[in-house]
Amino acid sequence: MPRKKTRPVQVGNLVIGGGAPIVVQSMTNTDTRAVAATLAQIEALAAAGCELIRVAVPDQEAAAKLKEIVKHAKLPVVADIHFDYRLALAAIDAGVAKIRLNPGNIGGPDRVKAVVRAAKANGVALRVGANAGSLHRDYLARYEGDVVQAMLASVEDQLELVTADGYDQIVVSLKSSDVVETIKINEAFAARWDFPLHLGVTEAGIRWRGTIKSAVGLGILLNQGIGDTIRVSLTGDPRHEVTAAFEILKALHIRERGPVVVACPTCGRCQIGLEELVEGVEELVQDLPYPLHLAVMGCVVNGPGEASRADLGIAGGKEAGLIFRNGEILRKEKQPRLLTAFAEELAQLIREKYGVNLKLNRAKFRLEELEDEEGGKS
Ligand code: SF4
Repeated sequence: MPRKKTRPVQVGNLVIGGGAPIVVQSMTNTDTRAVAATLAQIEALAAAGCELIRVAVPDQEAAAKLKEIVKHAKLPVVADIHFDYRLALAAIDAGVAKIRLNPGNIGGPDRVKAVVRAAKANGVALRVGANAGSLHRDYLARYEGDVVQAMLASVEDQLELVTADGYDQIVVSLKSSDVVETIKINEAFAARWDFPLHLGVTEAGIRWRGTIKSAVGLGILLNQGIGDTIRVSLTGDPRHEVTAAFEILKALHIRERGPVVVACPTCGRCQIGLEELVEGVEELVQDLPYPLHLAVMGCVVNGPGEASRADLGIAGGKEAGLIFRNGEILRKEKQPRLLTAFAEELAQLIREKYGVNLKLNRAKFRLEELEDEEGGKS
């Protein structure tokens, strides 16, 4: 679908907006002062496909650790600042790529301008925006409780302030925990402005609920071409935010990363332990970045058809299954051997298609890259 045209904003080595690929981001939930733990989480998030990472900077002690985090982090770092403009200045000094700032809570226009000047001088992008949960009551009063209009007015006031000296490397976010509000406010903003949008449904909740809310809210906006970077907010391990974000982008054919696994829901015709098979395949491929179409189907009704459209698929029979590759039957295996056989065929497919050698880590049931004698990836 055509993307809404926005101005490009440089964030470290990434571009947000201006037609660049939609950037997937997440936020660490470690204590930023614990540098090793924070860097380990950033590395795990990068391995999962995360492209931009935000860290909370609640105090000077956390700000003092940023230099080391920025130096070793595998991803451009965004500093999340509230209440104290000196934390933003320290973060810019530490070399972060972007500052997330709430101009309404850091002590007045002069302090906001001081941060903007420093950001401009150092090529650091800014993210400003409004959150329905923390909107100043004056805005709500002015628009008689109309949250969408109140948020729009709030962010437009912020933009007037941060762009007063001509700085335009600004990303905007307009978030609500309510999906419909999130959609309406982002549509309204995108109709008026060309600043790139950071999309998210805030405080979306635990993994399953938050993923559904984010998929609905972000999906509707992305399908209209609105949105330049996304964060799926989920309670828990932030790697799930990244996998959920890519599933949303893949479902809309916007970006590819990792396999798509199609699986039937099973019914009374199924004579194979399908749930176990699907979980096994998901486990097997969870760290793989290759965009493959895999199918795990329960029986002969849709099974061979769906499995044969896939790069690699299983069509279940009676306690056994056929493995298909691009419509061709490769082999038939009894259920106990089926997953291992599938793993072997998948490793072969990846070797041929991507020239990468993988081996099955049987303890974790994962496909992993082989290391050569020098310890590098083959
Ligand atoms: S593929 Fe077969 S087992 Fe799966 S839902 Fe369809 S009919 Fe049922």
